[in-house]
Amino acid sequence: MTPPPPPPESSASSTRRRVLTGDTPTGRLHLGHWVGSVANRVAMQDEYDCFFLIANMHAFTTRADKPGEIRESTIEIVKDWLSAGVDPERSTFVLQTEVPAIAELSWFFSMLIPFNRVMRNPTLKTEIDTKGLGDTYPFGFPMYTVGQCADILAFRPDWVPVGEDQVAHIELCREVARKFDVTYCGVNSKAEDEDFEKEGGVFPIPRALVGKVGRLVGTDGTNKMSKSLNNAIFLSDTPKQVKKKIGQMYPGQSREPTEPGNVEINPVFGYADTFIEDEAQVAELKDRYRKGDNLGDGHVKAAVIEAVNELLDPMRERRAALEGPEGDAKAVEILKAGTARANEVAEETLAMAKEAMGLGFWGRRITSD
Ligand code: ATP
Ligand code: MG
Repeated sequence: MTPPPPPPESSASSTRRRVLTGDTPTGRLHLGHWVGSVANRVAMQDEYDCFFLIANMHAFTTRADKPGEIRESTIEIVKDWLSAGVDPERSTFVLQTEVPAIAELSWFFSMLIPFNRVMRNPTLKTEIDTKGLGDTYPFGFPMYTVGQCADILAFRPDWVPVGEDQVAHIELCREVARKFDVTYCGVNSKAEDEDFEKEGGVFPIPRALVGKVGRLVGTDGTNKMSKSLNNAIFLSDTPKQVKKKIGQMYPGQSREPTEPGNVEINPVFGYADTFIEDEAQVAELKDRYRKGDNLGDGHVKAAVIEAVNELLDPMRERRAALEGPEGDAKAVEILKAGTARANEVAEETLAMAKEAMGLGFWGRRITSD
């Protein structure tokens, strides 16, 4: 699959504008992450100054009792990024818990959002449902939406490459940025979004960039492909696992190969559209399937399996070089170096925000050893 081209620069400035996005370490990355966000990240690395964040603090909102899993998943996601072609020489890898400015900005931002506004967020409601959180979720769970505003705004980015489910969160982030700039920086509340920084705002108003497929369906054919629903094809899956998972997909109706098939309700065709690059091949598969032209589900699945493996093969090769404790150590080294750089930017942002809020008493420096 060819990643979409990066969007045009939104500013005439000669320095590269920034991009921020990330993943929660609650499991490994899957094809949904790739089409929703990761492919765009890989495509944007040269044109933009990219920051990719592991939201390990947010993983505790639903897994406070599983710190070992969160740690393991943190390392795995770094490996997923490297395997997918995210390059630490060109992009900055960030570990959320080691960027104190994010936690501090979260506090300030929580004062700018009405509590009811947070609780109305549709993505939050869906998550409470699908993750079975009931009404006993921790206070920190809804707080993560405010924290995510800080993850983003700490880097003052123009773009946030995400899947569809994140758009509501980015909207909240945009509201916070506007509110901050209007309240503390004297920006006119009627200013156009793209003028906020020019008018003296600390924060630009970032935009969501949704990938080629904003919501990839899982192998169950219904739900969003998700780490937690047992319906995901992982970027680290072997060819055998890919074959088994796609092979077991329910095509939407039972039918003999010679009967007309319904392309629209068969989720395997959704994958064909997404992963088979040759459009003529997809059109032919659909045409023959619709006509019942001796083309069984097995044929369609085989074509999709081949295309997915073609996408994943180079990732598997890169991952093979990251196996074992040495690979783990390399992942941590990359995170450490990136986080040091991330702290420079986030500290600058926090200092600017504090100055605007009348809190600019003295400077400070974050170091690591
Ligand atoms: P969790 O269940 O822990 O929330 P998740 O699978 O939703 O996990 P996140 O770490 O929350 O993964 O999301 C990382 C990024 O991947 C987000 O930008 C999200 O929108 C995107 N994404 C996740 N699943 C899909 C999907 N099935 N299709 C498209 N984009 C997706
Ligand atoms: Mg999610």
